[in-house]
Amino acid sequence: MRLSRNTVTIAALVMSVQILGAQTKITPPKNKYSPQEDVQLGREAAAQVEQQLPLLRDDNVTSYVSDIGQRLVAAIPAELQHPEFRYTFKVVNVKEINAFALPGGPMFVNRGMIEAARNEGEVAGVVAHELSHVALRHGTAQATKATKYEVGTIAGAVLGAIVGGTAGSVIAQGTQFGLGTAFLRFSREFEKEADLEGAQIMARAGYDPRDMANMFKTIEQQGGPGGPQWLSDHPNPGNRYTYITQEAEALHVANARRDTSGFQSVQARLRQMPPAPSTEQATRNAGNGGRTRGPVATSGRISNTVERPSSRYTSYNEGNLFQVSVPSNWQELPGNNSVTFAPDGGYGAVNQQSVFTHGAEFGVARNESHDLQTATDELIQSLTQANPRMRRGSGYDRGTVGGHQGLRTVLSNQNEVTGRTERIALYTALLGDGTLFYMIGVAPDNEFGDYSQVFNRVAGSLKFAR
Ligand SMILES: [Zn+2]
Repeated sequence: MRLSRNTVTIAALVMSVQILGAQTKITPPKNKYSPQEDVQLGREAAAQVEQQLPLLRDDNVTSYVSDIGQRLVAAIPAELQHPEFRYTFKVVNVKEINAFALPGGPMFVNRGMIEAARNEGEVAGVVAHELSHVALRHGTAQATKATKYEVGTIAGAVLGAIVGGTAGSVIAQGTQFGLGTAFLRFSREFEKEADLEGAQIMARAGYDPRDMANMFKTIEQQGGPGGPQWLSDHPNPGNRYTYITQEAEALHVANARRDTSGFQSVQARLRQMPPAPSTEQATRNAGNGGRTRGPVATSGRISNTVERPSSRYTSYNEGNLFQVSVPSNWQELPGNNSVTFAPDGGYGAVNQQSVFTHGAEFGVARNESHDLQTATDELIQSLTQANPRMRRGSGYDRGTVGGHQGLRTVLSNQNEVTGRTERIALYTALLGDGTLFYMIGVAPDNEFGDYSQVFNRVAGSLKFAR
């Protein structure tokens, strides 16, 4: 949905931000989901997050963050209060400077964020910003624009989007398409709304909104693996520091909270603990998330005899993201946040693992390099981590994929479930927003001659929505 949202949201922003007296009036964007669905989706995603990320189980730290959070929740304006929502605050024991909130209220603040803050107001600034995304229902508002994916296919996608990078995309069972990223990565328009709403909530709760702007500066200056992650989920709409400061001046905070003893004792407590791991270290061995790729098969079967690819092709439009034509005897298997096309007998579940032996999967992986070959190298590296028997074969062939500069390479693998040797044709292209699009074609070694041509034809049919 990052591919198609820009024109819509700019128009929405123009209509939704009106100057009302001194404060900027923010109106929630269009949303086809009900608040109840926000709650349900957020709850599913939170359960998954809690399974996979290490929560810091320290009452002092958790209740400190929770107290800040509840103070801010009490300051959410009446028109943005949803009685169904339950705001909860948990601390994740990882070092990246990050925080995220899920629809309906579950919020997770990284230990690294608390460690990097210089005062309580800065912690409150990040929490107020995240709360505003929840109260304005930005996650499902973005999902509203992604027509392809419906309620119920979402939660599995969230974790990979949190972990980020290509490691995250593998944890998210291969891909980042769809709503997992919608819940966490916001448009610049939504960012500005969350900044301004967050500033107003802070002021009503007795915090100085300028601390939010200061925290964003701290994040920008930190660099490293943590800072850019928060920033890539919450891109700077431009002049962020300036407009937050202007809004703060219009808000007149009476009796701003100046008590810092709670903040100092929590930071001291964190310093006594062993250092937090990185998110990637913490999730590397979590579950078997990295072992399976593609959609979770609930039907289908693996067969030794799979019908050859039809010479007739059927065209599919994937959520206004891209179009592709595939052999008409391949079925579409929407995944959590990917899409796979496979023939009968070429996909299924074996020993509760999804297996995919014939066909093609499409997805996008986040990367920070903005360089096609580097991003592709990283993707292969993370695929290899998840599939230890995977080996690189040829080098890269350069060409075009969907009109973008592209790379193609072939890898070999021994399928962990079937034990058969297979070959993987990987096609990649960098999209306009810097994310890496990929197509993975899979076929058993002895059928790869035929399939290689099919994969080329499928890749040649790709058209991106922009
Ligand atoms: Zn944001």
